[in-house]
Amino acid sequence: MSVRVRFAPSPTGALHIGGLRTALYNYLYAKKNGGQFILRIEDTDKYRKVKGAEEYITEALNWSGIKPDESPSTPGDYGPYRQSERVSIYHKYIGELINKGKAYYAFDTNEELNKIREDNERQKKTFKYGTHNRMQLKNALSQSDSVTKEFLKKGPYVVRLKVNSGETIKIKDGVRGLIEIQSDEVDDKILIKADGMPTYHFANIVDDHLMKITHVIRGEEWLPSLALHQLIYEAFGWEAPVFMHLPLILKPIGKGKLSKRDGEKMGFPVFPIAWGKSRGFKERGFLPEALMNYLALLGWNPGTDEEIFEMDALIRNFDTKKIQKAGAKFDFEKARWINHKFLGFSDEKVILERFAEFFDCFPERWSKKMRSIIYTLLKDRLFLLEEIKIESKLFLVDPTEYDVKVLNKIQRHDPKKIVNQFCKLIKEGVPVKNWKHQIQEWNDKEGLPFGVIMQSLRLAIVGNLSGPDIFSICEILGNEISLRRLENFFNHQH
Ligand code: GLU
Repeated sequence: MSVRVRFAPSPTGALHIGGLRTALYNYLYAKKNGGQFILRIEDTDKYRKVKGAEEYITEALNWSGIKPDESPSTPGDYGPYRQSERVSIYHKYIGELINKGKAYYAFDTNEELNKIREDNERQKKTFKYGTHNRMQLKNALSQSDSVTKEFLKKGPYVVRLKVNSGETIKIKDGVRGLIEIQSDEVDDKILIKADGMPTYHFANIVDDHLMKITHVIRGEEWLPSLALHQLIYEAFGWEAPVFMHLPLILKPIGKGKLSKRDGEKMGFPVFPIAWGKSRGFKERGFLPEALMNYLALLGWNPGTDEEIFEMDALIRNFDTKKIQKAGAKFDFEKARWINHKFLGFSDEKVILERFAEFFDCFPERWSKKMRSIIYTLLKDRLFLLEEIKIESKLFLVDPTEYDVKVLNKIQRHDPKKIVNQFCKLIKEGVPVKNWKHQIQEWNDKEGLPFGVIMQSLRLAIVGNLSGPDIFSICEILGNEISLRRLENFFNHQH
């Protein structure tokens, strides 16, 4: 049977990196096994639906390079792929469960249930709708046929799963191993709500079955629902897919799950692309391939020291047996480092074209060739493309201040004299490539430490000791600007 996996987000907001990692693992698993990756939108909860969220999810997956084989916009043979368009299907299947005696109508009002809940709380008990009390509650099992008919005519009503007591539910999770739960711990969960819409649990199972999903790979937060899901499969007499529950993504510091607020507090993105005012990984200058590489390693490892993987290598290496059980700490520095590596080996021309918006800070007068030279010179220093703006400043703004610490250190070697010598070279028309040699000859008599000569030049041109190769900088700046900066330094009152 061919592998079919799905990513099934609810459009209740933007897709965060936890969701994106789930999508990625599903995608990798499908591609590794020559299977299909399906996007299904679980939008049956109309109160939690957020405008624009579905479009966001599609766009974010698209930017990430995670292309679904079947989705609402690229349907296959198992559509519709939006749950709100499948309501008649759920009604048909709930009918099947009711006829089999595996589900039943319930008529208790919210007020009635709340009252019982409160009474229970007062007695320090938790209320559970199930075998031990369902005959005392208002439902098709406890009421006569004629009363039931009346209730059904009047409405509203819900449909609940009939959970048997005293059974042990055994499920093998691909990540966690064998899980055993007692059926008494599961209550008679609602499958169809009073508004006629299915609950997540019911729609999810019906769809996974009808869409021929073979493996369910999803976040650990769904683990508590697993027993219920297994019971729904059993009620239908369907074979359940293989489950794999992914570890939580944890805060970088402290305990607990990573939240949007952590990102805001610590200055890192949590969304792949911008959502409202929050800039995403995209806007900060991540290559999507680098983000996928980082997310793949957030809960999985290849079993080697290798850390850099392009998508095809991720697909080749991905092995669900190496998914960890323990939560994975989010590490923005590591994500940045991986992006840095990708920037390092990616073709400059491609970067300049693909991520053109980051190069808007380059003045128009810079030719294509010049842009490429400048980017090549700076890229070793870049972790995120957004940094190009700061890093390229040294070509655009003459320094007006000089690093005092450095100045103090080299003062006794008379940096002005050194700088003056470079001025002379420019005025004599010596090309930059010969500066080093000429200055060495001059220094034969002076006997200065060569490091100090280089520091003086860099200080005058850039203002501090950072930046790429100083001769390359001077070459790009040209004679006029280089001379101006050297003279400014010379005339500056240190
Ligand atoms: N709609 C659920 C969610 O939003 C899907 C959970 C699952 O994959 O079963 O995460």
